[in-house]
Amino acid sequence: MKRLDNTRVKKTDARKHTLVHVKNAVFGEGHFTVIAGPCAVENLEQALAAAKAVEKAGAKVFRASLFKPRTSPYTFQGIGPEGIEILKLIKQETRLLIETEILSPSHLRLLAEHVDLLRIGSRNMDNFDLLKEVGKAGKPVILKRNMSATLEEFLLAAEYLLLEGNEQAILCERGIRTFETYTRNTLDILAVPAVKELSHLPIIVDPSHSTGMSKFVASASKAALAAGADGLIIEVHPHPEKALSDGHQSLNLHEFQTLMDELRELARVLKKKM
Ligand code: PEP
Ligand code: MN
Repeated sequence: MKRLDNTRVKKTDARKHTLVHVKNAVFGEGHFTVIAGPCAVENLEQALAAAKAVEKAGAKVFRASLFKPRTSPYTFQGIGPEGIEILKLIKQETRLLIETEILSPSHLRLLAEHVDLLRIGSRNMDNFDLLKEVGKAGKPVILKRNMSATLEEFLLAAEYLLLEGNEQAILCERGIRTFETYTRNTLDILAVPAVKELSHLPIIVDPSHSTGMSKFVASASKAALAAGADGLIIEVHPHPEKALSDGHQSLNLHEFQTLMDELRELARVLKKKM
C-alpha cells in the first residue's frame, strides 16, 4: 500500500498501538469496549430503557443517534436537536458515555458540547470537509468504513482526521457491499487483523449493519472479538419490533445481556479487558 507511506495512520516501530481514551472507556490493544444503544433515539422512554439495560449488561458507551442518514428521505430522519435534552437526562440517570453520529459540520458545536464520542457514518467516510472539521474539533471520533471503500481508502480517510491534529480516532468495520444479498452487507472480518497490521489505530466492528439481521449479531460479535477487534458498536432496542429504524437488526434487552455474558467469557480467554 504505497499511498500509506509517510502517513500518520501507518503503523511504525515507534508507533504500534494507539489507545484512545474516552474518559473511563479505552479503545485499543488489550481492551474490548462495547458501545450499545438504539439505531436512533426516538423518545425519552425508549432511550432511557435502552440505556439502563445496556449499562447493566456492561456496555460503557451509549449509542445515541439524533441525526439519521437514511436511504429514503421518506423514512424517520432522527429526532434532531431536541434529543439533546434526552441525552442530558441519560447522563444524569446513568454513568454511560454518549456517542452520536455527526452528519454535518453545522452540528459540530452542539454535539461536541453534549457528547463524549462522535461518529462519522459510512456514507460520510469521504466527506472530506466533515472529516477536516471533526479533525479540528479534537473530540474522540469513530470513522466507519464506506460500504465500497478499500482498506487503503478507509485509512486515507482517517488520515484527514489525524492531519488536522485529531489523534483520537477509532476505525469501524461495518460490512461491505458484495454480490451476496442474503445479509445486508458482508462483514469483512479480515479487515480487523489487516487494519491492525497496517495502522496503529484501534478498530471496532458493527455487527448490526454488517449483518442486517438480529439473529446473526451474536455470531458476528464473537467473530469480531476472536479476530482481534478492540470493541463493538451494537444496536439494541427495548422493543425492536416497534423501532423507527433498523428494528430487524436490533437486539432486544435480554438478547444483549446474553451476548455480553458470552463475550465476557471469550474476552477472559483472549486476555482482553472488558
Ligand atoms: C449507523 O451506525 O447508525 C449507521 C447509519 O451505520 P452506517 O453508517 O454504517 O450505515
Ligand atoms: Mn442503524
